[in-house]
Amino acid sequence: MTDQSQTPTIVWFRDDLRLSDHPALHAAARRNAPVICLYILDEQSKALKPRQARPMGGATRWWLAQSLRALSASLDAIGGTLVLRKGAAADVIVDVARAVDASHVFWNEIVQAPHLAVADGVTEALADLDVGTQSFPDDLLAHPATIRAKETGTKESRGLRVFTPFWRRVQAMGGPAKPLPAPKKLLPAPKLKSDKLADWALEPSKPDWAGGLRETWTPGEAAAQKHLKRFLREIAGYSSDRDRPDREITSRLSPHLRFGEISPRQIWTAAHFAAAEHPTHSSDIAKFMSEVGWREFCRHLLFDVPDLATRNLQSSFDEFPWKTDRTALRAWQRGLTGYPIVDAGMRELWHTGVMHNRVRMVVASFLVKHLLIDWREGEKWFWDTLVDADAGSNPANWQWVAGSGADAAPYFRVFNPILQGEKFDPGGVYVRRWIPELTELSTKHIHQPWTASPLELKNAGITLGKDYPSPIVDHKVGRERALKAYTTIRNS
Ligand code: FAD
Repeated sequence: MTDQSQTPTIVWFRDDLRLSDHPALHAAARRNAPVICLYILDEQSKALKPRQARPMGGATRWWLAQSLRALSASLDAIGGTLVLRKGAAADVIVDVARAVDASHVFWNEIVQAPHLAVADGVTEALADLDVGTQSFPDDLLAHPATIRAKETGTKESRGLRVFTPFWRRVQAMGGPAKPLPAPKKLLPAPKLKSDKLADWALEPSKPDWAGGLRETWTPGEAAAQKHLKRFLREIAGYSSDRDRPDREITSRLSPHLRFGEISPRQIWTAAHFAAAEHPTHSSDIAKFMSEVGWREFCRHLLFDVPDLATRNLQSSFDEFPWKTDRTALRAWQRGLTGYPIVDAGMRELWHTGVMHNRVRMVVASFLVKHLLIDWREGEKWFWDTLVDADAGSNPANWQWVAGSGADAAPYFRVFNPILQGEKFDPGGVYVRRWIPELTELSTKHIHQPWTASPLELKNAGITLGKDYPSPIVDHKVGRERALKAYTTIRNS
């Protein structure tokens, strides 16, 4: 009989690319047996398709490659090795478990329908081999099953659809488990065949459009921790300034959270510690934590509504008269709508893989309301271009802006892109950063260049329609058209 204490444990890494506060890795290291660290690029599991799992977009694929390199280096430093394999998770894990005669497979839970189904398949396949499995709570502060409300008129319960009571309930649970330390050492595991990361072609080559991403980001756990520390040190003013794209005051943790390079438990614990140390920062910290709460809210929503990226949460929107306008969609994607705050946001997104939250709301509103283009088109573009593209936060926020979502902004609230620019980028700093054509334009006209006199435009070196577009839709006309379109579903 095999000595169970020495048989290797496989740790299956997914969206948890870190060593610290990694419950599965922690438990495996404590077994005092060799640990196989396995990452599977799974685009093949049968369970993925019917459950609305989408292949990653271009920007997240780029991030994943960097994050795997960082994880591999961190594992090397403590005696471990990251094994890379491509295929259906159950097939790969069975193959590896057989090859090393593993006694256990551990992983952290991802509470999303496709991932839960894939994990169930792994458990089933391993049961035939008599290999033990264990999954650990991970990517959320609270499991969706713990925060439910009775559905009116039925015996069913469902997740809360309004943020404030939701967040109150999460907080009332008293905080998550204390984060776990990273293992100091892993026992060497038997050598295993590993794919070459380059063969997965996660990074673009022809053309290589990732220059802006490389300039902007350092993926990986160490960078995530550094961001969090710096951010909490400098958090004063977050509540009032977080809506200002011209000020870099937010945490920039979203892609790190997306890939589990940092856990929400670590953020919660560090934030509470910082609030206790610096009571004068406590309202800024509370605001920050409520933003992390929105991430949680979106994930809980996704748990209940796995097809959140394709189905209107409010079915009245199924009848909405969306327009098909490829030219307008393309102008929006390229940052060529003629509205500087919209164009700056879209260009920031293309270059850096993120966009400031306030500007995300403005560009989304512009697409859905001024251009009457289905929110799903915008969501798809964000999915491909955001490094933080998240299966919960992306569709939930798009539906929030469109008015079809949970706790959503009402459709008739149409953001005015000129006033939004003037209010949140009053000096035009953000617009000038992303639209060099407008650098010389005065602050008075920076958010509406078409109102500048011909002489001023000439002095700023701008010919509208040539150097920078005239607005593709007049704000007032767009607004009226949006409201009219809305009446068709309001009255139906
Ligand atoms: P901070 O202000 O420092 O916030 C801290 C953390 O809270 C963020 O890292 C993020 O995890 C979370 N958070 C903040 N705001 C929100 C929010 N509105 N919804 C959910 N979580 C939030 N965020 C994503 O992480 N992935 C997405 O795919 C995504 N798509 C979006 C699409 C639209 C149309 C809109 C309006 C917002 C979207 N957001 C998304 C939310 C938000 O814009 C980003 O989380 C935020 O800009 C990230 O910057 P930060 O880390 O500096 O935020």
